[in-house]
Amino acid sequence: MPHRLKKILSRAAKTFRPPPLRAAWLWANSKRILPPGSPEPGPWNSGRAPWVKGITEAVRDPMFKMVTGVMGAQMSKTDGVLLNAVGWRMDDDPGPVLYIGPTRKNVESVSKDRFSKLLKSVPSLFEALAKGKKDTINEKFINGQRIGFGWAGSATELASHPSRDVFIDERDRMGNNVGGEGDPVALAEARISNFIDGNVTVVSTPTYGSVETETDESGLERWKPSDEVNSPVWKLWQEGTRHEWAWPCPGSKCGRYFIPRFSTLYIPDGATPKQALDGARLFCPHCSDMIAEESKEWMNDRGVFVAPGQHVVGFCDDGALIEQGGVTVTVAFGTYLAPIDADSSASFWVSGLCSPWQTFGQRARKFVVAMQSGEPGRMQAAINTAFGELYMVKGDAPAWENVAALRRPYAFGEVPRGVQLIVAGVDVQGDRLVYVVRGFGYNFSSWLIEHGEIWGDTEQEQVWQDLGTLLETTYDGRPIVRMLVDSGYKPGGKAAPVHMVYQFCRRYYGRAVPTKGRQQQDKPYKFADVDQKGHERQPLKLMLVHTDHFKSWVHSRIEWPVEHAGAWFISQDASDDYCQQVVAEARLVTQAGRVFWHKLRTDNHYFDAEVLASTAAHLEQVHRLPRLGDEMLDQPSEADGVTVTPETPAAPDGAPAKPKPKPPPEPAPPAPKRKKRRRGAVSECQI
Ligand SMILES: [Zn+2]
Repeated sequence: MPHRLKKILSRAAKTFRPPPLRAAWLWANSKRILPPGSPEPGPWNSGRAPWVKGITEAVRDPMFKMVTGVMGAQMSKTDGVLLNAVGWRMDDDPGPVLYIGPTRKNVESVSKDRFSKLLKSVPSLFEALAKGKKDTINEKFINGQRIGFGWAGSATELASHPSRDVFIDERDRMGNNVGGEGDPVALAEARISNFIDGNVTVVSTPTYGSVETETDESGLERWKPSDEVNSPVWKLWQEGTRHEWAWPCPGSKCGRYFIPRFSTLYIPDGATPKQALDGARLFCPHCSDMIAEESKEWMNDRGVFVAPGQHVVGFCDDGALIEQGGVTVTVAFGTYLAPIDADSSASFWVSGLCSPWQTFGQRARKFVVAMQSGEPGRMQAAINTAFGELYMVKGDAPAWENVAALRRPYAFGEVPRGVQLIVAGVDVQGDRLVYVVRGFGYNFSSWLIEHGEIWGDTEQEQVWQDLGTLLETTYDGRPIVRMLVDSGYKPGGKAAPVHMVYQFCRRYYGRAVPTKGRQQQDKPYKFADVDQKGHERQPLKLMLVHTDHFKSWVHSRIEWPVEHAGAWFISQDASDDYCQQVVAEARLVTQAGRVFWHKLRTDNHYFDAEVLASTAAHLEQVHRLPRLGDEMLDQPSEADGVTVTPETPAAPDGAPAKPKPKPPPEPAPPAPKRKKRRRGAVSECQI
């Protein structure tokens, strides 16, 4: 077919192809009947969580190729948005579909339990389902079309089957590199590229980031776009239409729309969890009236999505009246008005306060309990899941750009001058091993020789054989003298017959050592016996690592002056992702003196691997290594007032260099000069 004709036909198909008659929420209301014994039996009611109307309308809308929903927990994300959309596609307008969840366990439970229940509650779907061998956890066929169920580690699922719709659940619980193939959303976009009406829908609870609000011309408080966002789903939200779920104030003299969020939640001062549960209210930012739980259903019934540039002037029986560009239109409750300048990405945010299954009091109580624990991780989880908002702990971690600035011109596998001993650290995940190989020299100067990931199920033997190959690798003829492997995570879980980490370390007894991190410990590291089975002759030693000690050590070395022995370098081949991961955690000290390492990004595996490499260096007594004098350090700048002495070549056999007539000043004690620490020293940081 001539290219031009093809183009015209394709455009015509785009224009004249009738969209499905209804959105997924209408389909669910008419077709899905929850059996007796369900928490809410009877016909499905999308009005319970009415924002699913707007989000599923956008999935249907041919204008949008990408739909993003950001919400807290218990907001009907999976059932009301994703699974209903899958059922609707298969029933009303069949085409291939892919559902991607964060973990295998999660996806298996969605496929086996929740989606199977949906199929049983819709007779027309259940009849059209291919039974027997074609009905598995990972794929099902309905009306001849395939539904694939994949998880973030199963790159093959995301990289192989073309799909018209891809649904991604809990995006923020996935890393930025799925199965070694890249960003899951980018992979999903590649899957739908052959379909004119293809769509990617992403929903998630958000995670890390710092964001403020701003008040628009109509007096509505809205999220302000921010650069300080690590949360992948929030970034997607910022790239879309930026709709937020708004409620009318039930006050008889007010009635104005506002956006419920954590800042509109009133919790009595100094409330105990019980007092928060009983005393929490919402307050209207316009009239300051207190709003009780009893008004929630009334407000949700009249809720609507509002985007920047839109002004809700009121509501009538048919919907909310939204003014945009000088024109006022009636927008059905629960739905949205597309902004004038919208392109192909729609995005929606709903506060966790709107959940019909959690009261204001329950959300407030969760927050107060988390605050009382003083643990940043719990406080963050409370803000993320209870309210669907971002949370950033202002802790102390070097900026990732500072790490990137430590790249020096040598390739992976090359051994820079000054390296006297090579060690490795390995972090163990369910779907991969993450490793670093680092060379150490005098005064703990160190150079990253290689970083990488060995992808594959870590419950299986293959990845461990590959790790063995890595351990046998020599660099410029020099071996990895010690490899520490984190055994805190047991591949396959408790039920797995063997601990693959222990099995690997037995195979390489002495060279490979299993480790476990400890938050509190009297020594930087010590050893314990691994529980052994009767037939093991030689007890395997488990290294208990004081994680705070070594995490702090790595971060202090990142900030070391680069012209002094003791500096920490990386190869020119180190990726940006690596640089971000090694500073993915920040150190916090509470007023009570407790130390927490708080995650700032989902992926922190290279940091864990570097922590183990530096622990290995300490185990190898690196402090005893002699000065060779020809370390590949940066030249001191004149401003530092250091006299540059000619370098003395190292003795060929690696023995200590001869003393120099005029040794340069010793670097110890170290005083980081060139890189400024971020404001607020570690010990002063309080929460
Ligand atoms: Zn009001």
